[in-house]
Amino acid sequence: MPIKDIFQKKKYATVPSERTKREIPEGLMHKCGKCGKIQTSIELDKNLKVCTSCGHHFILSALERIQMVMDEGRLFEYDSELTAEDPLEFPGYAAKLEAAREKTGYNEAIITGEGTIGGYPIVVGVMTFEFFGGSMGGAVGEKIVRAIEAAIQKKYPLVLFSTSGGARMQESLLSLMQMAKTSAALAKLSEKGGLYISVLTDPTYGGVSASFAMLGDLILAEPGANIGFAGKRVIEQTIRQKLPDNFQTSEFNLEHGQLDMVVHRKELRSTLTKLLDMHSQTPSSAARGTGRN
Ligand SMILES: [Zn+2]
Repeated sequence: MPIKDIFQKKKYATVPSERTKREIPEGLMHKCGKCGKIQTSIELDKNLKVCTSCGHHFILSALERIQMVMDEGRLFEYDSELTAEDPLEFPGYAAKLEAAREKTGYNEAIITGEGTIGGYPIVVGVMTFEFFGGSMGGAVGEKIVRAIEAAIQKKYPLVLFSTSGGARMQESLLSLMQMAKTSAALAKLSEKGGLYISVLTDPTYGGVSASFAMLGDLILAEPGANIGFAGKRVIEQTIRQKLPDNFQTSEFNLEHGQLDMVVHRKELRSTLTKLLDMHSQTPSSAARGTGRN
């Protein structure tokens, strides 16, 4: 069999540079949700979708994220066909799933796979908010667990990029179960000494923040990302108190010990490369420590 046929069998998520171009028509104007500045898609794209005026980080789709952080902007995708079913026959869910697939081009709220960052092989999962608000149902949980198992088996670090409104309510308890399922799989990765870097992006809420997103050995977040369990308004109404303006932002979470680092999108790739590099050197430095070197 010719070599090129072997490689053709590998299914890439896409070459994102081609698909994202279609996602954002040229010349389209975007208003910054924070400062109100109007920018063209081209200006924004050049600036990694960060507002050129106030630095607000716009939400990225999974494909844009892959294009931005992965070497050559691509990965070898796992379980691309794995998608939600409608186990509870929740009214309207099947039709909504169909519409979401049609509209977004995604099969589920996460893409998982393997690739390299700065030359270091990793297993990666990237959530996408536009598919059902990045909610975690059975298929998302299963894809994450399979990615964790691949990381254990291959001894690759795991990097998960989260963005989610929480559990997928149309799957009810089956969706909540994914919190325990992904956490248990991560515990196994930890027992085996695997590295897990969690990157929180705007917004990360509910069952996702209450499970795998907050279990990273290292937890990074983009500036200004909203991260929490229940939303700010819900908490204010419950406790009948006004909360600070920056409540639940990355910076607030960092200050309160929930995060390890807040990293600007422009530095995310180089920061991850640095962390993966440090991790790759761990065994030899441990050996030095015991005098075996
Ligand atoms: Zn702005």
